[in-house]
Amino acid sequence: MTLNLVQAWGMAKSRLQAAGLAGPVIDARLLVEAAAEATRVDIVTDPYRALTPQQEATLDSYLARREQREPVSHILGRKGFWKIMLSVTPDVLTPRPDTETVVEYVLRDFPEHAAWSVLDLGVGSGAIVLSILAERPAARGLGIDISEDALAVARDNAASLGLAGRLALLRGDWTAGMPDDQFDLVVCNPPYIASAVIETLEPEVRDHEPRLALEGGEDGLDAYRLLAPEILRVLKPGGRFAVEIGYDQKEPVEALFREAGAAGVLTLRDLADRDRVVAGSKKPLEKPA
Ligand code: GLN
Repeated sequence: MTLNLVQAWGMAKSRLQAAGLAGPVIDARLLVEAAAEATRVDIVTDPYRALTPQQEATLDSYLARREQREPVSHILGRKGFWKIMLSVTPDVLTPRPDTETVVEYVLRDFPEHAAWSVLDLGVGSGAIVLSILAERPAARGLGIDISEDALAVARDNAASLGLAGRLALLRGDWTAGMPDDQFDLVVCNPPYIASAVIETLEPEVRDHEPRLALEGGEDGLDAYRLLAPEILRVLKPGGRFAVEIGYDQKEPVEALFREAGAAGVLTLRDLADRDRVVAGSKKPLEKPA
């Protein structure tokens, strides 16, 4: 059977709907666009363009994978985040719109031509730091990850975005071995899901995304216990930080940063109005009297 673009989209929607997926319309569109090598505009302006048999076969295999709850980002090998497109693999957490809250917040007070140094702890695909570097031409970044496979993805993304010259990527255990007072800005989306909750997550996350990027210990807060004092240590006096949190972690994470000596600690909400980012700063040096 020969399908045109709009028929393919309709067929894909009904297959994904029948499989009980949460967002069948958008998933179907993304898979049809990729399989048919069409843009979003083509579906509207050229709806009767026929798929080739090869494109139909590709679409069929994409839909079969999606029916098995493989994330769209893994099927396509890419995901849009903020204003950039990133390559993703199962070795990195797929960038989520929630995390754009971190980027949006830190850019607000980041002067356009400031030569700030930015540290991204657990850099993964590079989503956060690369979004920042893409918008702040004088900024430089350092991304740390414990996973070599994740670093390879971040390297690939930095190169495709033309940002490799401003982003160093190193394997490391968070801030271990870093000197004090180095960075103007620290960002981080650590693993924060409580271990017992992992098994209750959607199969797309539970079975396809790296545990290393998700699991935050018994109460989900292990990473913040370590990171709060360490982020304050590696920030320059007056430097800022913003870390992603789970929707129910505002109080404990704010408390950890306050105990570590942070100033101006506050929590931001994401677009779904859930607590999502704890931010603050390191106190500036006292002016001599
Ligand atoms: N927000 C992610 C999820 O619920 C978790 C990200 C993380 O642990 N950093 O799938």
